[in-house]
Amino acid sequence: MNNNIDIKKVWSDTLNLINLQVNQIIYDIWIKNLQPAGISGEEFILIAPYENTKNLINKNYKGIIETALISVCPFVKGINVITENDISLVKDEKPTPENVTEEYFNDYKINNTFFEERYTFDDFVIGESNQIAFAAAKAVADDPGIKHNPLFIYGGVGLGKTHIMHAIGNNILKKTPNKKIIYVNTEIFINDYIESIQNTKNNELNKEFRDKYRNVDVLMLDDIQFMRGKESQQALFHTFNELYQSKKQIVFSSDCHPRELNNMDDRLKSRFQSGLTVDISSPDIDTRIAILKRKAFQNRFNVSNEVINYIAESINTNIRELEGALIKVKFYCDLNKINADNIDVVKRALKDEIDNKTGPISMGLITSCVCEYFTLEQSEIMSKKRTKKINEARQIAILLISELMPVPLVTIGDYFGGRDHSTIIHARNKMSELIINDSQYSTYVKDIKNMINIKKK
Ligand code: ADP
Ligand code: MG
Repeated sequence: MNNNIDIKKVWSDTLNLINLQVNQIIYDIWIKNLQPAGISGEEFILIAPYENTKNLINKNYKGIIETALISVCPFVKGINVITENDISLVKDEKPTPENVTEEYFNDYKINNTFFEERYTFDDFVIGESNQIAFAAAKAVADDPGIKHNPLFIYGGVGLGKTHIMHAIGNNILKKTPNKKIIYVNTEIFINDYIESIQNTKNNELNKEFRDKYRNVDVLMLDDIQFMRGKESQQALFHTFNELYQSKKQIVFSSDCHPRELNNMDDRLKSRFQSGLTVDISSPDIDTRIAILKRKAFQNRFNVSNEVINYIAESINTNIRELEGALIKVKFYCDLNKINADNIDVVKRALKDEIDNKTGPISMGLITSCVCEYFTLEQSEIMSKKRTKKINEARQIAILLISELMPVPLVTIGDYFGGRDHSTIIHARNKMSELIINDSQYSTYVKDIKNMINIKKK
């Protein structure tokens, strides 16, 4: 029976649902990097890149993933998160009669980098906000290592950086399947590096790390703003030089311009800018409409122009949210067996999103909720004081403002007593990191978001 299940499609639909429910950073770093490996019995097998990712997913996100997965594919009853080392155990313990599982295990082993099939150049809608990044990526995919090396793509969350990187990967592999392309999130690069020096003497790079990152035709590092640690940066610097000298293509993405990468080694910053640096900005209304039309078509969702226009006007933050809104409307219509042909349906389906966007949210409201939560005075959070509590509360306020409000970083800096925007980026990234590594901080953020939602009504 599960011979007929398209596992990659099931997983990508599941990711769309999960994306609506978890913190963006957690989604990007932990959940999106799981790879579907097959179905064993009634369990959906997911491969985590590391033992610690596996444990973290099992501890905190198993329930969310299972609920989403079961709603996409009711045949599946649960998930089993394993690492590549466990593959043989799963296969031996629970042999399944279906070939599909074998196939997917093999697939996974041959090509370690998994490119989303739906992230192609053809499926990328071009508008004023992304046309230069698109053209640059296309040129790189046509002639890797020759034209723009490195290519550095930067822009806010949900604007298509990862999509473009996958499109480069898909495009090159289609023309030249033997090319070795490594695409990883920067967190994975750091993890790999740390693991590699733990397994060797004298801080020498071990062969596995070297093979993975230096013996490649194309290296793509996503979300380079998460790069940290002197030694990891050094490893990146040497990796860069070696690849660059042998004319291998390198592509980076980041949420800000290379010169704003505050904690980055200057030598790296200058390397990042030595090729072509392109940005992606927020899409205008025409692009948002075109994207919604494309996504509706891909999801076989019959939806009127009136509805498309309404969603495009209501959601103007980023493309991920735009896409999420459309999926939510589809889900609502499927569930209630109604057509998406009038605005009332959308208003009901997107009640939370639209209310959240139009409510009187402000930097003052966010900051006062943070202060109330940590029993601090507003003046303390604005001051230069750097006790642990004040510092962390300030970082949370900055993270929440940049996540919930479309204001430029300089404005946030001005609000917090004239701090410059690189300090703001640092504060935001620091807190994002803490949230990922310590569930206590994600609880704080969740509680404060609830407070904000209640207060603004
Ligand atoms: P980022 O990496 O910049 O945070 P992603 O690449 O993950 O953003 O994009 C978020 C979602 O929006 C993805 O599902 C992606 O396919 C979609 N998307 C972004 N830009 C476009 C575009 N120009 N055309 C079609 N889909 C897009
Ligand atoms: Mg991304």
